[in-house]
Amino acid sequence: MNILVTGGAGYIGSHMVRYILRHGLRPVILDNLVYGHKESIPPKVKFYRGDIADQKLVTKIIRKEKINAVMHFSAYAFVGESVLNPRKYYENNFSKTQKLLNVLLDNNLTHFIFSSTCATYGAPDVKKISEKLPQNPINPYGFTKLAVEKMLADYSQAYGLRYAALRYFNAAGADDDGVIGEAHAPETHLIPLALQSILQPARQLKIFGADYPTPDGTCVRDYVHVYDLAAAHLQALDHIMRNKTSDCFNLGSENGYSVREIISACEKVSGLKVNCQDAERRAGDPAYLVADSGKAKKILNWRAQYDLEKIIATAWQWEQKRRY
Ligand code: UDP
Repeated sequence: MNILVTGGAGYIGSHMVRYILRHGLRPVILDNLVYGHKESIPPKVKFYRGDIADQKLVTKIIRKEKINAVMHFSAYAFVGESVLNPRKYYENNFSKTQKLLNVLLDNNLTHFIFSSTCATYGAPDVKKISEKLPQNPINPYGFTKLAVEKMLADYSQAYGLRYAALRYFNAAGADDDGVIGEAHAPETHLIPLALQSILQPARQLKIFGADYPTPDGTCVRDYVHVYDLAAAHLQALDHIMRNKTSDCFNLGSENGYSVREIISACEKVSGLKVNCQDAERRAGDPAYLVADSGKAKKILNWRAQYDLEKIIATAWQWEQKRRY
């Protein structure tokens, strides 16, 4: 099977590409390298540098590479930036995705796995977030992802598209071999920043808010390893193909960890101190986001295999070895 991976040079996409290869299938990458890294593309994998909205290019790839399914990772994902510059997010995450989808359908390509997010739920006041909760995003990033989900639902009704919307919680960790990992520019995520403050103590980690209504006052999140996410993509693809259906799934470990707990875990794994300080809250951060992944367990037989220590161990290995 030939799988087109858009954003295949990005953080989650590059792990997906390796996961596909390890499972004996053939990934083809389309990435414009705005945020992706050329160094993360395995030498043997067919790579097209270009835009998902370039309909001529996408048509060429589909035909030439005999694509059977698409996994769509390419998107902008900085929540703060989406508030300041929503135009960029609606254009890239929504409008370009529509152009991509139209070309797929024009070429009778109807299997589509979409990187969605728990940010589509907003800030629900529940212990665990299941797919049954209403989706009420609180920032433009979440809205663009929800808008694509709505479009996918309408397209599947009208045009026979089969899709899975996978709502990730906090993607984290890296490949065991330390060759690829999380490398956002600018980096905004907790685990890489905590580990970088160990390696470069001048880069102090700010704890964004210590007065949240959580046990230790810092925000709680559900961290899930990138390879667990990758596994869910293949399982979801199998599900929509085999059962001729469309579906959505929350992907998380179902365990919540506070910012302070993450810092302690980073210190335990590395044996070194995180240089950190309490700071103001960051705009748009919900206090508590933890997945109920019961549906993915039941229907996909998926479960997160990496616990927090393993997630951080792979991220630590990457931070020490990284070359890009
Ligand atoms: N966080 C923090 N300091 C940082 C980066 C993140 O305290 O430098 C907190 C952030 O406020 C949130 C949690 O860590 O509560 C996870 O943030 P991240 O950006 O990694 O993921 P998000 O949950 O925003 O997708």
